[in-house]
Amino acid sequence: MNDSSPGTDPSPRIELPGNDPGYFYDPRVTAGLHGEIRLSPRVEKHCGCGGRPPYQIFRRPDAEPIWCPCRRYRSKVQEISRLIGNSGIPGPFRYKFLDDFDENYEGKAANLKRQLRTQIKSARRLNTSHQRGTGANANQPLKGYFLSGKPGVGKTYFSYVALNELIFHSGRPGKFISLSKTFFQTLRFAFDENSPMHGKSEAFLRTLGNVPFLVIDDFGVQRNTEWELEMLYNLVDTRYANRRFTIVTTNQDIENVKDLADGRIYSRFIEMCYIVRIHAPDYREQHKHEL
Ligand SMILES: [Zn+2]
Repeated sequence: MNDSSPGTDPSPRIELPGNDPGYFYDPRVTAGLHGEIRLSPRVEKHCGCGGRPPYQIFRRPDAEPIWCPCRRYRSKVQEISRLIGNSGIPGPFRYKFLDDFDENYEGKAANLKRQLRTQIKSARRLNTSHQRGTGANANQPLKGYFLSGKPGVGKTYFSYVALNELIFHSGRPGKFISLSKTFFQTLRFAFDENSPMHGKSEAFLRTLGNVPFLVIDDFGVQRNTEWELEMLYNLVDTRYANRRFTIVTTNQDIENVKDLADGRIYSRFIEMCYIVRIHAPDYREQHKHEL
């Protein structure tokens, strides 16, 4: 898997304090919708290649080149930018982090943010253990979230933030899917023997079942046909078996999920996720000017 590449990088490692992974997000907009990930100054200081690929240094003109210490961090920056770009998070919400998530209102959102901080610390450990090649925490499951609440309380926004943070700090892939009509139509189309997409859905579902972090947005808008529920159950069950971190957002109460697929989806959610009901003023109403 591509998340193993930074661990095998041959360039020397720089001793960094625990709060510095060697890169940071610079929010100053350079082009388009957001800023960019940059090398931390501590890494820049050690760079002797001028940031030019293939990131090598010649100690003497006649000597063999050696890898510049910046190399592993540059590839990490590239990899994480690529992962966030391919995550399915819509453009304006990429690189939204905890500090962008306003929980000034009372109630569950503040608790959520605190919990999310803990999760992010675990993601950082995933990153570090990975870097060191020990993989000690690599299989440690992170408990996900089942977020329910009225439209506009910030569920989806929270899930964007969580996904950005987890990918950014762990360096591992994550995906965002919305259970819209189009989602199932595309899936169904890809199962059709006569479709040019035929055969793609198995691979797609395998990816979704396995990706370290997944957001399933708008659970409950599906039409609950037997086929749709079976797809959903298989997805959720695969993630359960693989011990993968999953966030589900829904306008429905967890109790409503009990009736679906003989309660099998419900029982998986209960085990995999913190069940959180958000009561909050309308987040979109408050932040209209920003969106
Ligand atoms: Zn360099």
